[in-house]
Amino acid sequence: METNVAAGTGSLLINLKCPACGAIYNAFVSNTFCTKEGCNSTLFAQYDLGQPLDRLVLKGRLNSMWRYRELLPVTGAENIVTMGEGFTPIIPIKNLAKDTDGNLVYWKNEAGNPTGSFKARGIGMAVSKAKELGIKTIAIPTAGNAGGALAAYAARAGINAIVYMPKLTPQVFKDECRLYSARLIEVDGNIADCGKLVAEGAAEHGWFQISTLKEPYRLEGKKTMGFEIAEQFNWQLPDVVFYPTGGGTGLIGIWKAFDELEQLGWIGSKRPRMVAVQSQSCNGIVTAFNSGQTHAEFVDGGFTIANGLRVPKSFADKIILKVLRDSNGTALSISDSEMNDGVKEIARHEGMLIAPEGAALWQAYKKLKATGWIKPGETVVLVNTGSGYKYLENIGI
Ligand SMILES: *Cc1c(COP(=O)(O)O)cnc(C)c1O
Ligand SMILES: [Zn+2]
Repeated sequence: METNVAAGTGSLLINLKCPACGAIYNAFVSNTFCTKEGCNSTLFAQYDLGQPLDRLVLKGRLNSMWRYRELLPVTGAENIVTMGEGFTPIIPIKNLAKDTDGNLVYWKNEAGNPTGSFKARGIGMAVSKAKELGIKTIAIPTAGNAGGALAAYAARAGINAIVYMPKLTPQVFKDECRLYSARLIEVDGNIADCGKLVAEGAAEHGWFQISTLKEPYRLEGKKTMGFEIAEQFNWQLPDVVFYPTGGGTGLIGIWKAFDELEQLGWIGSKRPRMVAVQSQSCNGIVTAFNSGQTHAEFVDGGFTIANGLRVPKSFADKIILKVLRDSNGTALSISDSEMNDGVKEIARHEGMLIAPEGAALWQAYKKLKATGWIKPGETVVLVNTGSGYKYLENIGI
């Protein structure tokens, strides 16, 4: 991206901090999650936000997630592995606006990212940082999109990729991994089963594993959605953000981004209410939220067309629940048939073929509108996390 390949990025990265126990880790060697006894939390990258940095620095920069390079963890520009991920459009609901009763409803549309989903952000960041740290082989458990993204970014970076994916995942997610020359292992089970096999393989063969939120930098890639929402709404955050929650990386990342922007003085203290939307088949966060729990149970009701949401238990369940409560948000689950109807409704009326995960948000919005939780005149953002084109074999037309 930069013309001078030996240039630094100006990254303000200082270290990694455990948000649960406060332990500090060196960010200039490879890390996973907090290994202090009994802690097991995700680690957060920390930046030196005390110094003056004007948002005018963004002027004239490329429209990709790398425009925020001071607030990203890669320090050498030559390590950036990029295919134009991020800076995705904000698209207003058009023909269905008649049903939104004075709300301004927008898609943050992630469908145009490389490999067709927002996983390109998190994986692009993690692979770039892995390259910077000299890592040669990366393994991942995936429900589909993350595997394809790893395969693609690893191919570009010259890193070996090993992908563990449930057998029940649609064919296209497997084919793309093979085309990008990753080693694909199909597992008779869910993503949690894949995760166990990755951990075993990593211990045995020394692979670096980038399981959701057990590695610090996928979060940093996904947090750029929060920067973009702020910038694209001219630094006035919307009232409500709906997010399809599997592992919760994007939800936590968007919230982290808002914190960092406030510390820099780029936004004020107003925050959106964050809404986690899950599939009825894997709704541990919804149940925990509604019953006042601070952690989620393992819930796997089996197949869902929204394979990105088939996560029986997020590694960062406590952080997700805290974000929902700190933001005065909420959580709800949507059935497969509602998602299927949502995909068709948005295609027919809006001309967009969105992922079932995104369609779940439209259905959740309508429900919260009907109960009065969303008030007239509020500005709402729905994050369509992926392209519907990869899901067609499971969408009933
Ligand atoms: C992975 C995925 C999700 C869930 O993302 P998290 O940030 O891990 O909760 C949602 N939608 C799609 C299309 C995905 O691929
Ligand atoms: Zn800790």
